[in-house]
Amino acid sequence: MSNSFPIKRIALFGSTGSIGTQALEVIAANPDKFTAEVLTAQNNDELLIKQALQFNPNVVVIGDERKYQKVKAALASTDVKVFSGEQSLEEVAAMDCYDMMLAAIVGFAGLRPTLKAIEHGKAIALANKETLVVAGDIVMHKAVENRVPIIPVDSEHSAIFQCLVGETRNRIEKIVLTASGGPFLGKKPNYLVNVKRDHALQHPNWNMGAKITIDSATLMNKGLEMIEAKWLFNLKPEQVQVMVHPQSIIHSMVQFEDGSIKAQMGLPDMKLPIQYALAFPHRIANEFPRYDFRKPAQLSFEEPDIKTFRNLVLATDSLFKGGNLPCILNAANEIAVYAFLRNRIGFLDMTDLIERTMEQVPFIDKPTLEEYFDSDAEARNFAASIIKL
Ligand code: NAD
Ligand code: MG
Repeated sequence: MSNSFPIKRIALFGSTGSIGTQALEVIAANPDKFTAEVLTAQNNDELLIKQALQFNPNVVVIGDERKYQKVKAALASTDVKVFSGEQSLEEVAAMDCYDMMLAAIVGFAGLRPTLKAIEHGKAIALANKETLVVAGDIVMHKAVENRVPIIPVDSEHSAIFQCLVGETRNRIEKIVLTASGGPFLGKKPNYLVNVKRDHALQHPNWNMGAKITIDSATLMNKGLEMIEAKWLFNLKPEQVQVMVHPQSIIHSMVQFEDGSIKAQMGLPDMKLPIQYALAFPHRIANEFPRYDFRKPAQLSFEEPDIKTFRNLVLATDSLFKGGNLPCILNAANEIAVYAFLRNRIGFLDMTDLIERTMEQVPFIDKPTLEEYFDSDAEARNFAASIIKL
């Protein structure tokens, strides 16, 4: 095995988050296969220092510049390089010291470093779905140009990717993205209107960062994933279907043109898609708990309630219209979730804010990268001004 698996040097962008920490567990369990050469965090200096002392990377980045001195001092006895500030994320993404970037920063902030890594020919394990939602055409084009593989980490997209291994010549009829339905499955607007942040942060099946947990509760996460899937698998919008599957055992499915359906299954545990993306094209033995078909005895499926969870309608609209609309949707959503997490707006207000922002910011059919950045900024400013952030 060791001969067929040369050691892979991983750069974890967003190492202190839910995905980042689980990826470090995978790396720690496979020291003969992976090393962690880059660790980055926005605020959590304590955890970043701890991780750096454990994994001895080439370089760490602390986003918040006020914390630079503290991190630097804590690592003074090591040879770990310490950088700080937004700009250094791109500088580090261009370094030679790693082979694969795990893109696990949350939100639009992940776009620039990921683009830089692609330009430098680095393989990408992509957790940061916002990167593809915002500028999927440019990101995928650059990946092809630089012959860079983009391996999805998002469990649904990992499932589809796994179903497609060995099927490169076969046409996809459609994909079915499964959704847990989140904590408010079956609830109606008269209930949701009173939902507060702590309640929305309780997800039934997955333990994730705050932003994606709220996105799961509003179903925006599934909307973003529809757009992510379109770019990753080169699909037409009408080939992407969403089904609610509350048990989260089938992670997604592909239906081919002969009607045959392949599904990828397992217990909901992000370590599996993370490990798969890091090790691709290999699979690695592990001790993760296995799914037992005797419990839960039943796997169920239902249509999403798009009358209640209107974010899915907005996301579908932007999936079909394309251009800068998904970028606008994403920016407004980031502001909406930020405000909801600070108890500044209600649960249902998030959708209204996104809808208004999508109506306000001018549509551009084929944006340049700069136009995506401008649309993002304009959407954020407009959304923030409405709710007086
Ligand atoms: P998280 O909030 O737990 O962690 C985010 C990480 O990004 C942290 O290390 C943080 O320091 C860093 N970060 C935050 N803002 C930053 C900024 N402005 N600049 C630089 N770094 C910044 O998030 P997460 O749940 O780990 O999710 C990360 C990404 O993976 C998201 O795009 C999410 O949609 C995606 N994802 C997560 C899961 C999951 O189970 N958590 C599943 C599928 C996809
Ligand atoms: Mg997902």
